[in-house]
Parts: sequence; C-alpha cells; structure tokens
Amino acid sequence: MLRIDGLSAGYGRLEVLHAVSFTVERDLPTVMLGANGAGKTTLCRVISGLIPARAGGIVLDGADITRLSPAERVRAGIALVPEGRQVFPDMTVRENLRLGAYVHGEPGRTGFDAVFAMFPILAQRQNQRAGLLSGGEQQMLALARALMSRPRLLLLDEPSQGLAPKAVALIAETVNRIAATGVGVLLVEQNLILAQAIARHAVVLETGTCVADGPAGDLLAGGAVADSYLGKT
Ligand code: ATP
Repeated sequence: MLRIDGLSAGYGRLEVLHAVSFTVERDLPTVMLGANGAGKTTLCRVISGLIPARAGGIVLDGADITRLSPAERVRAGIALVPEGRQVFPDMTVRENLRLGAYVHGEPGRTGFDAVFAMFPILAQRQNQRAGLLSGGEQQMLALARALMSRPRLLLLDEPSQGLAPKAVALIAETVNRIAATGVGVLLVEQNLILAQAIARHAVVLETGTCVADGPAGDLLAGGAVADSYLGKT
C-alpha cells in the first residue's frame, strides 16, 4: 500500500536518508529498525510531509503523494504518531482527540465513540487535562488522536520510548487490534520486543541506508540485527 522509492532527504547541507526504498503492505505490519541517528524520525517526517523529499517518491495506494502538504497527506490517509507523543498537556483528552480529526472538519459523535470503544480509559478521562495522564496513557491518546483522522496507514515513531514493559505490551496489543481492522502499520523502533510483537515485515536502516529487508521472523529472530544495528553488543 505504501511504496518508498529511492527517497533522499536531510537538513541543510546534511543528507540523512540516501535513496531509501521499501514497501509496506496492508496485511504485513512493518517495522523499521535502526540505531540512534540512523534517520528513522527523518523518514517519518518525509513520509508525513513535514520535510521535503530531495529525490525519490512516496506512493500510497497507487497515488503519488510526494509533493502533497502534510494536511493533504492526512486527508489521503497517512496519520503520524510522533516521537515523544506530542499531546497538548493543557487541553483535555477530548480536545486532543478533536484535533486529530481536523482535516475532516468537526468530528461527529461516532468518531469519538469508535476510539472510545478501543480506548475505554480515554472515555473515562475525556474531560481531564491530557497532562495528568501517565506516559502509557498519553501514548494511547496519541494513537487514538491519529485514529480520529480515519487513516489507511499509521506511522508510529518510537511509541515505546520511555515506557515501562507493561505499557509497551499494551501498545503492542492495541496496534495489533488496529492492524486487524485493515489499517496499514509502519512502526519505527529500537525496541525489539515491540517490533517482534507487531511486525511481520522488517526493514533495517543504517546511517540513512536500507541494509536489510525481509520477513520479520527471519530478521528479528537471530539477534544479529540487535547486535549489529542497534548497538546492543
Ligand atoms: P533517534 O532514535 O535518536 O530519534 P533517528 O534514527 O530517528 O534517531 P533522526 O532523528 O532522523 O534519527 O536523525 C538523523 C540525523 O539527522 C542525525 O544525524 C541528526 O543529528 C540529524 N537531524 C535530525 N533532525 C535534525 C534537524 N532538525 N536539523 C539538523 N539535523 C537534524
């Protein structure tokens, strides 16, 4: 459903991504693994339109989205759950969710009901300030906010960051439920446990270049990926 083709991007004189190519299929949740600084967040920014592609293309379900604005990409079906969650702490849970739907105008009751069915904790706390939620709950809110735009593809930038194993397990379960509804998933991670719990396809990014691409079971099982690319030796 998503095809990244020879994508290059960077900041000023620094080129961070060098002709990156891979695909994400709807029924194959995909993880992009890479060490700190490999370019994972940069990739999320280019796919969601926050920084421009310098070369190459991005195709979503047959449509070239390389030159669309960030809002147009959300409308086309891409929702980013950004690194560090970026929820608005002084706004309520419900107001944060409302922002996720902005490209479609004011969300109807069914929009809220659908995410509250998936995240009962957010329904209970919908009128509280988001800043009062725990880290794991804020990550759930960031996920729920992304779902408010009714995406075809969910782009998750290191959702496990700073969370306890129990919260990470809950994220895995939730993302798997979302994937089961037919939403494509591209997870950018360093956490192998989360990657193994979600992904069926894996891509490894090393200093801005794809160095491995294949079934997650093969790539993540042996520990070779962890040793060589995630600096865990
Ligand atoms: P991390 O896991 O630490 O978030 P990452 O794989 O997501 O790492 P990026 O954040 O994409 O990596 O960073 C890749 C490179 O781009 C790094 O060398 C970083 O210093 C540089 N970089 C990232 N953001 C900017 C920016 N806004 N301006 C200039 N350079 C940047």
